[in-house]
Amino acid sequence: MNIVILGPPGSGKGTQSELISGKYGLYYLQTGDLSRKLAEKNERIKEIVNSGKLIPQEEMTLYVLDHLKDENIDLNNILFEGFPRFVSQYEALENFLKTKSATINLAISIDISREETIKRISARRICIKCTEVYNLITDPPDKEGLCRCGGRLIQREDDNPESIEVRLRYYENNTKELIKYLENRNFLIRIDGSRPIQEIFNDIVEVIENTNAKNTGKN
Ligand code: AMP
Repeated sequence: MNIVILGPPGSGKGTQSELISGKYGLYYLQTGDLSRKLAEKNERIKEIVNSGKLIPQEEMTLYVLDHLKDENIDLNNILFEGFPRFVSQYEALENFLKTKSATINLAISIDISREETIKRISARRICIKCTEVYNLITDPPDKEGLCRCGGRLIQREDDNPESIEVRLRYYENNTKELIKYLENRNFLIRIDGSRPIQEIFNDIVEVIENTNAKNTGKN
């Protein structure tokens, strides 16, 4: 099954994606991570990512489709997080998968308010060594400033107030358009992301099981 997870920054997409891909054995494709890796070798991309801007949409599509050429990736079992963010990226992904006799089976949007995004992202910390993510309010580390692996906790460069504002604007101007597009096709499940992690996960599991049952019924 191929699943797309959408939602504003700080909505818990990453946390839920880890849980979902773990439970269903999906390959977890996180384009934020892919972009940060590209940024290590490319100053232009580094400037874009750190300022909270998006990589030009077609360019990002090329990186993702190139990444999917890896023959170890099962094109029928992927969880996409952070991509697609634009209607054009969604259509390009759908067309690519079609050429491989695969499809997108489910799109989920995890919704939280603008205020909640700002509150959560300001409290987010990431381990410099193993990239584990903490939240000083909801999921603080046992030892202040330190990950359980011993690595130092830092703020992501694009988690500062100016970059958060830029990322929220992209979400409101572009990703919301994709959400509307998917809703018009009756192809989007919306989940309230303001609740506890486990409650959200239970709802997502139910949605996945229902989709699986429907797909099996079709065969
Ligand atoms: P994220 O962790 O998903 O917030 O992504 C971090 C950064 O990676 C973004 O601010 C962009 O610079 C880049 N990025 C990730 N996904 C995309 C995408 N679908 N299109 C363009 N840029 C992206």
